Amino acid sequence: MAPTSTHPRLIAGRLALDFANTAPAAHDLSWDEFVSFLVNARVVTPERAARLHPLPQTEPQAVDAVLLKVLRLRESLRAIFYARVKKKPFPKSWAEPINDLLRLTEGHDELVPRSEGWRLEFTAREGGLEWLLAAIARSAAELIVEGPNAPVRRCANPSCGLFFYDGSRTHRRRWCSMAVCGNRRKVASFHRRHAARRRES
Ligand SMILES: [Zn+2]
Repeated sequence: MAPTSTHPRLIAGRLALDFANTAPAAHDLSWDEFVSFLVNARVVTPERAARLHPLPQTEPQAVDAVLLKVLRLRESLRAIFYARVKKKPFPKSWAEPINDLLRLTEGHDELVPRSEGWRLEFTAREGGLEWLLAAIARSAAELIVEGPNAPVRRCANPSCGLFFYDGSRTHRRRWCSMAVCGNRRKVASFHRRHAARRRES
């Protein structure tokens, strides 16, 4: 049974950012969590995922090898996106995990309708299990070549800190999600104002 409750909402607007958001940095992503993420992000179909979930029993070494790449990629993406949020440059070595995957995997681009509009998305040709990471690596590479002015942000709620791509017209989006962090903030400040008014009267 795949765990789904530990999954963050896919709010980032870019696959690579959603992947970087998968868990706090210290937490190792399990195989089931990784496969569930791929399904939620529509990188693989649920049917494909049903065949991927049991692989740790049949191909434990291949799964371990890919999980190492998963963690290495996520670590480098988090570091790169932190740098991007702060508009700081990052060393070439940080892009190596991405380049390793771009080298290993072949594929093609496909037009896919998304809530924010049509997107050109990478579909990997299967070979080994690395292809599972190809679309994420490609999405990260596209984000990096957008340059330091790409609107990569972190949620303004300090206890959240999820990355997202601010595709809003004004580029002033502050929250991962208005419904979760934005509202919580609004509610908190409403209560503060209300309490202050009560104290004043
Ligand atoms: Zn948030």
